[in-house]
Amino acid sequence: MAKDAREIVTLECSVCKERNHHTEKRLKGQDVIKRIELKKYCPKCNKQTLHKETK
Ligand SMILES: [Zn+2]
Repeated sequence: MAKDAREIVTLECSVCKERNHHTEKRLKGQDVIKRIELKKYCPKCNKQTLHKETK
């Protein structure tokens, strides 16, 4: 696997705590984000909720 300034992070629903999304985080460049928070669809909540990065 090529060395790359990206990392796969798991996103956890802030409502039900289900870990149901993954995203790529850039570790270099202009859009480096320390803690990702995204509005994503949660199948458990059956709606869009705020998802936060988890380790
Ligand atoms: Zn949820």
